[in-house]
Amino acid sequence: MSASPFAAILRPELAELQAYLPHAGRFPVRLDANEAPALLSEGARRRLAEALACTHWERYPDPRASELRAAIADSLGVAPERLLIGTGSDEVIALLLTALDRPRRPGHPASIVTTSPTFVMYRLSARARGMRSVEVPLDAQWDLDQRGLLRAIEFAEPNVVFLATPNNPTGTAMSRSRIEAVIEAAPNALVVIDEAYADYADHSNLDLVDRYPNVAVIRTLSKIGFAALRVGWLVGPEELVREVDKVRQPYNLSVPSQTLATLVLRELGEEVRGIVRQVVAERERLRDAIASLPGFAVSPSQANFLWVRTPVPAENVHRGLAEQGVLVRSFHAAGGRLAHQLRITVGTPSENEKLLEALARCV
Ligand code: PMP
Repeated sequence: MSASPFAAILRPELAELQAYLPHAGRFPVRLDANEAPALLSEGARRRLAEALACTHWERYPDPRASELRAAIADSLGVAPERLLIGTGSDEVIALLLTALDRPRRPGHPASIVTTSPTFVMYRLSARARGMRSVEVPLDAQWDLDQRGLLRAIEFAEPNVVFLATPNNPTGTAMSRSRIEAVIEAAPNALVVIDEAYADYADHSNLDLVDRYPNVAVIRTLSKIGFAALRVGWLVGPEELVREVDKVRQPYNLSVPSQTLATLVLRELGEEVRGIVRQVVAERERLRDAIASLPGFAVSPSQANFLWVRTPVPAENVHRGLAEQGVLVRSFHAAGGRLAHQLRITVGTPSENEKLLEALARCV
């Protein structure tokens, strides 16, 4: 067989990357992807189905997503021109990096600075564009290492800094003063504050987009019950949004996504807040229950999942749970201090019970 004709033309960084594949297989209890539990009322489900009845299926979607844009703008109290809406916040991250990948010096690839551990798409999206990714370990409390980040910013001169707060996979909120120190240390970079889990947190950092010219905040519908829609957005400086919008595909948001996301924001706010309250209550119950198991420790969580330290290698607990039909996320493959860490999404009360029973059998 001849050599692949693509070997010479594929981007070399792809050799070190793996496609993002969620866990295969069927599990009766899936607590691995930080989705919201299935708690949507019958009434809300009916309303969503009805809203698609008058869809003009033969037409392209509104390329500006004007109604959805207005609904997001109203919900946040920001100008619609400051919003970049994507097929999930994954796309927003990719669009930002496509537009902001210019090297500061010839021969030196552009870079990003982020933390470790954090959401993998920052690194993946950066590497896929030939950018360098500099990752600064979080401190012992899984908070920002301010000195480490400031040093990385000085040395790497990043184009973009990504801070997730609450962070995935640790669930911890980053200290406000440390976030601000990073923003002030990187006046020539865009600092992206990823608030995918803000609905579960006791405070938000959205006000920072008004206080600093180099800050943008990312939000999503995926964690509050509508991952199926694939809708996420960025609030940022208008002149940046205008430029990044040039690399967005005109019809990136399907008609069902635009219609239903608008409905969620305009009509289902109370319903969503109710689900969030239930998840937060279950999160605290689950945290106490897991922390009372011998050898287990759980970090304080501001998200819809828990960051659990296991007394034995996390891989063993992960496998033990999977054998009982409960899927969670393990980080053991990364080694080091992650070898004993699991990330467990908060489910419905009955899913959480099954998790606790299965966990008790693993210890
Ligand atoms: N940011 C963070 C911190 C996340 O954990 C996730 C989902 N895992 C995303 C962004 C992407 O969310 P989506 O593309 O579904 O909006």
